[in-house]
Amino acid sequence: MAIVPINMQKGTVNDPESEIIVGIDLGTTNSLIAYVKDGKPEVIKTPGTGAALVPSVLYFAPDGRILVGDEAKKYLLEDPKNTIFSVKRLMGKSFGDIRQFKDFFGYQIIDDDTESLVKIRVKDKFYTPVELSALILKALKQHAEQVLNRPVTKAVITVPAYFNDNQRQATRDAGKLAGLDVLRIVNEPTAASLVYGLGDPDAPARKVAVYDLGGGTFDISILEIGGGIYEVLSTHGDTFLGGDDFDRAIIRHWAETGAVDATHLNQDKAYGQAVRLAAETAKKQLSDTQDFSTTLQGKHLSITRDQFEALIRPLIRRTIDLCGLALKDAKLNPEDIEAIVLVGGSTRVPAVKQAVTTFFKKADKSSGNKALKDYIHPDETVALGAAIQADILAGNNKNALLLDITPLSLGIETIGGLMDVIVPRNTKIPIKVGREYTTSVDGQTKLKVAVYQGERQLVKDNRKLGEFILSGIPPMPAGIPKIEIGFIIDADGVLNVRAREKRSGIEQTVRIRSQYGLPPEQIAQMLKESVRHAKEDMAVKALLEARNEAKHVIQSTDKFIAQHRDIIPDEALAEIQRLKENLQDAVRGDDKDLINARLQALNDFAAPFAHLAMDKVVREAMKGKKAK
Ligand code: AMP
Repeated sequence: MAIVPINMQKGTVNDPESEIIVGIDLGTTNSLIAYVKDGKPEVIKTPGTGAALVPSVLYFAPDGRILVGDEAKKYLLEDPKNTIFSVKRLMGKSFGDIRQFKDFFGYQIIDDDTESLVKIRVKDKFYTPVELSALILKALKQHAEQVLNRPVTKAVITVPAYFNDNQRQATRDAGKLAGLDVLRIVNEPTAASLVYGLGDPDAPARKVAVYDLGGGTFDISILEIGGGIYEVLSTHGDTFLGGDDFDRAIIRHWAETGAVDATHLNQDKAYGQAVRLAAETAKKQLSDTQDFSTTLQGKHLSITRDQFEALIRPLIRRTIDLCGLALKDAKLNPEDIEAIVLVGGSTRVPAVKQAVTTFFKKADKSSGNKALKDYIHPDETVALGAAIQADILAGNNKNALLLDITPLSLGIETIGGLMDVIVPRNTKIPIKVGREYTTSVDGQTKLKVAVYQGERQLVKDNRKLGEFILSGIPPMPAGIPKIEIGFIIDADGVLNVRAREKRSGIEQTVRIRSQYGLPPEQIAQMLKESVRHAKEDMAVKALLEARNEAKHVIQSTDKFIAQHRDIIPDEALAEIQRLKENLQDAVRGDDKDLINARLQALNDFAAPFAHLAMDKVVREAMKGKKAK
């Protein structure tokens, strides 16, 4: 098995030598796109502005235009409802996952069924994080096409090492929706290590710490790199800790010392924004100088590096504590680490660098070489690494080791005929992965497992490899059985699929011989189709998901009414029935925004009664307790 390069425009299999595959760092705060030019990775600058970093921000303008990057960022304060930022935090997440951070986002995140994936409402349209990320990727793709003056259709995209299957799959989908064939999803710390040549297949295995402090997030990863293999031993981090907190510490300091007017700050958006900008400028300047001063609206603002360092000490301390936890998880000591890679704009702060070096002070075992890797723009490192990985995949870097991989995704059919990918394409083999499923009907004793190969969202468009039935599941209410579907691919490419109900232990296995290997031309054809149909596939998927969710909510509403009829006044019941029928009508049609809007209307109206019912249950439980 090998990577099959294809030309998306012509549909032909390409000569790998002539290909450009870009590397993309799709970040929480900023995104970048890079490629390898004459053997060297280089970030592609935004045409017009010349900036390397593209803020991961989208603005939905009143005239229907969608702005991306610096242009969109201007509207964060002015029109927060229509300005989307930090969408990476929502990738592959359900509302339940992000409920506690809901207020962090200035835009509307839909709170309906807490189990389903989040949606974002902008005006009367509903977007998934995948669609929003695709808009950012599309902008980056366009920049690259303008600068390189040729179509760009293939990419490697990076994700944090801790991203789970859902989040990785969401990132792949976003790439596809943007018209990109995503050759591989690479861990950000792995990409960063590649930049420093730490992946030399001939070098002995070594342990590396990648310390990544960006604008809003902190990640520490401990890797073992050897023989061309990057293994993530452990990761830790804080998804709400970064350079933005440094800015806020400065603002707080100015407010406390009376240099800025605290009430004015909260009430006047323009003033607030000006102070925020001054704080960030101060912070950046203090990376090179000992003090900073400026005037804002006639008032003197100043801060010294010592003062700044004292302010951020607790924040830096927290990152170091997390480094300690990551080492502990990897069962290592600081002296076991041979190199430290610094990533993210905030590692430019000298106090941060100092603290990291001190913590890993015994790290320098590598024959007198400097162990701290920080000589490249730290905010470009991940994108440059992605470009290097892309170049390896394009076959240009003959020294790099390419491991055997699965040429197409493998997965099973789930509700509504959707393909649920279990092994994404380009996954290294041998591999063993599993995912848990459950039943959708009360008392269900059988489950059909149909295995497919391909990149399309609906199984009917993919290639069926086989199916079997797991029978003998003890009858239980829907959602209670825990059925693990495991995909095991051995080094010869033979796929074994196993289904196992964990509570009862019953299991069934099917062996699919290497017949799932396809000739390269057919793989190329399947990949081409998947990119060509990405938009309509994604639309059908969104519609099916909205319908599934609506049906589920309709069922729960009926159940709820039957159980709690006593707490619902007659007029409210009539209104719930009316909203439910409206939703049923919408489900029969194929407008996903209408289904979502009516779903939300029903949920909004019914929510207070659900709370009442909950109070009642709690009260009765308390009564029961007292009576005893
Ligand atoms: P990133 O998410 O990696 O793009 O990092 C962005 C963060 O790095 C923001 O909080 C920036 O304010 C911060 N940053 C960029 N340049 C500097 C600098 N010279 N000194 C300190 N922080 C910086």
